[in-house]
Amino acid sequence: MLTFMTRFDVDLFVIGGGSGGVRAGRVAAEHGAKVAIAEEDRWGGTCVIRGCVPKKLLVYASEVRRSLEDARGNGWTIEGATHDWAALIAAKDREITRLSSAYATRLKKAGAEVIDGRAVLIDPHTIEVSGRRITAHNILVATGGRARRPSAAWITSDEAFHLPELPERIALLGGGYIAVEFAHIFAGLGAKVTLVHRDKLVLRGFDPDVREAVTKGLTAAGIDVVHCAELALKGTTLTLGNRSIEVDLAMAAIGRDPKSGSMGLAEAGVALDERHAITVDEWSRTNVPHIYAVGDVTGRVALTPVAIREGHAVADTLFGNRPTPIHHHLIPTAVFSQPAASSIGLTEPGAIAAGHDARVYCARFKPMRYALSGRDEQVVIKLIVDKPTDKVLGLHVVGADAPEIVQAAAIAITMGATKADLDRTFALHPTTAEELVLLR
Ligand code: FAD
Ligand code: NDP
Repeated sequence: MLTFMTRFDVDLFVIGGGSGGVRAGRVAAEHGAKVAIAEEDRWGGTCVIRGCVPKKLLVYASEVRRSLEDARGNGWTIEGATHDWAALIAAKDREITRLSSAYATRLKKAGAEVIDGRAVLIDPHTIEVSGRRITAHNILVATGGRARRPSAAWITSDEAFHLPELPERIALLGGGYIAVEFAHIFAGLGAKVTLVHRDKLVLRGFDPDVREAVTKGLTAAGIDVVHCAELALKGTTLTLGNRSIEVDLAMAAIGRDPKSGSMGLAEAGVALDERHAITVDEWSRTNVPHIYAVGDVTGRVALTPVAIREGHAVADTLFGNRPTPIHHHLIPTAVFSQPAASSIGLTEPGAIAAGHDARVYCARFKPMRYALSGRDEQVVIKLIVDKPTDKVLGLHVVGADAPEIVQAAAIAITMGATKADLDRTFALHPTTAEELVLLR
């Protein structure tokens, strides 16, 4: 194992024990660097404590409604099914506590010093945390982001994970990942949900066919999708243009801002952009050469696997003798709506805008899963191919198994798969994914 000679207390100080910070700290320590890492809240960060993980657990719980609805057509009689929100939240909390402690343990096992407390930069090489001053040769800022809140009357996803009871009527503001996912979670668990969005279709930036299918899916789940830009919330009354509705709770999901304030970044000379995101290059290096930043605080792509990859790359570059720049293309993503949507690569308009001579293949069909239950839901599989080279530029799937399909297909697409490669692949029958190799 290498040791790094330094006049500083540590080779690397990581601020933030979330997806990016934990990976960077652990890998740097495993490379032999002397590492300290600080977390002001709970170890694991947004993804583990109030993001991907608890969200997916609630998605699984709410999807049971669909299974119950589909059961009858398959010969089952299930009567009197009820749901206990408090029991779900308690079970979710136990799992999150287990995971959070596993994150801290793993860091310690790797040899990193794990510090509970808020870290602040005192000067470009000194961090203050829990009443201690620690000097660092390199600093990594991985402080994540926080939800935007229109006013105190609105909750955000942070509070949604800890509601004492399921609201009977809830309004969600926004049409992005969080609004769409939580609309289905609340509706699946039995709430009356209104989703208010300033556009007709949700999920701006996704392929138009995905946006249309997911918007339809919201309505099919009984969610009232309201297209409205003018709204006011007073007490329990939400005014939407010239219509008013009564709600027990209103939740905003209108994006997240980088957590870059009040921690001495400006004083240390670290440049922020107009959205207060830390500006970095492909090495995740800020304008101060020994200060790095990864994850949501950099305002690049706010997804856990991206923060993890960026953090890992910084550790490999600094201490692993493996310079690793990060390029943000071909990142698969999923919206865990019901049915789910998942994509990788260029959308149809994106391919055209990028100057590709694109050929589009699109299949829409009712999956066998619903043949007996009669659920009126179609799978959409859309493939964008570059005509001259035959290379797959993008894949977009809406359907119950979409994220699983896209993750597997992402391997082939990242390897540079052509449409001909898909065509010579045997179908695996009967599956939803087989349509991917049968598109004509
Ligand atoms: P974070 O994970 O936010 O970690 C930053 C940490 O730094 C926090 O723990 C914070 O407490 C700590 N911190 C901040 N300032 C200081 C300080 N001064 N001193 C010490 N500690 C500090 N992504 C996906 O890929 N898939 C999903 O399904 C998904 N679902 C999501 C659902 C929700 C509701 C939300 C909100 C996000 C979701 N995301 C998902 C996004 C994902 O959670 C983030 O992209 C990811 O957590 C970013 O990692 P990070 O390391 O940049 O920051
Ligand atoms: P998104 O950026 O996904 O969506 C924000 C939504 O809010 C958009 O529909 C936007 O509308 C709307 N909006 C923004 N400002 C306003 C406003 N002032 N008034 C009304 N509507 C507004 O943000 P989220 O908060 O949903 O999620 C944050 C990020 O976290 C995501 O972008 C994603 O990177 C990550 N995440 C990932 C998940 C996953 O991987 N499954 C799940 C959850 C979060 P418009 O489209 O018109 O701009």
